[in-house]
Amino acid sequence: MTPLPATTRSLFHVAVVMAHPDDAEIYLGGTILAWHQMGARVHIVIATDGAKGGQLPPADLARRRVDEARAGADILGASLTLAGHGDGGLSSDMDLVAHLRSILINLAPDLVVTHAGNDYHADHRALATAVRAAASFSMPVIVCDTMMGTGFEPTHYIDTSFFADTKSAAIRCHVSQDPERFVASATLLSRFRSAQCGQPEGHAEALRFDPAYPFADIRNLLPPAPGLKPVRARGPA
Ligand SMILES: [Zn+2]
Repeated sequence: MTPLPATTRSLFHVAVVMAHPDDAEIYLGGTILAWHQMGARVHIVIATDGAKGGQLPPADLARRRVDEARAGADILGASLTLAGHGDGGLSSDMDLVAHLRSILINLAPDLVVTHAGNDYHADHRALATAVRAAASFSMPVIVCDTMMGTGFEPTHYIDTSFFADTKSAAIRCHVSQDPERFVASATLLSRFRSAQCGQPEGHAEALRFDPAYPFADIRNLLPPAPGLKPVRARGPA
């Protein structure tokens, strides 16, 4: 008898392509940790140098943010590529698409994660468009939640309850960004996403996948969703 296929692949490669040095930790820290625990390899690509995200002179801040990004990626168990584009200046033009395409072809991931096309920051929106163009029909693209979930309709939820403290520790690596505000907002959102699954005491991160040929179903590449609560009989309504 032919054995049933495994429901979850144990070893695959994910590329997380984010605009700024702390985005992967804030938006996807729990999911990256869950992938790592599954045995998947995760590689974070940071498109910009983050030089405009603070009060320090841009060159000094860019150097500091490299160290912060490395520390955060270490906690998440991910490797890192710094693409080095200018902070606040991303445009989904052919130069960015070609650079991302060369990075992605070299990484050869099974799945690409990037920002939602309607997220709050113009760099996030530009990158979302460029990543889709770069991936084309070579690799599937899934998008992460928006800032505070605004305008985001998830298709998948990841149970990140076990990883909440480690995710917060990774966000706190970005000392130059006054990170407690992002720990607070990410925790609020992960509580809400878990509560949407009937588990307000847990944490979850939300993703959205819009299938495009030949990638119709990518569930085998995702960590587990929050468990379903048993239905209780309540008697006559
Ligand atoms: Zn960002």
